[in-house]
Amino acid sequence: MAEDNNTKMKCMRCGHEFFGHYEKGVAEERSCPKCGSFSVRPLPEKKKPTG
Ligand SMILES: [Zn+2]
Repeated sequence: MAEDNNTKMKCMRCGHEFFGHYEKGVAEERSCPKCGSFSVRPLPEKKKPTG
C-alpha cells in the first residue's frame, strides 16, 4: 500500500510549519528543516482555535 502520510508539523522552536511523514505510535526522529530543532510536533488535521 502506497499511501501519502503527509502530516503538517510545526516546529516549537522557530514556528516553522512543514509537511512530513508521521506514523501514529512510531517515534521517528523529526527535525525542523529550518533551524534543525527536534522540538517538532504534528499538527491536527482539523483547525482548532488558539486558546
Ligand atoms: Zn525550527
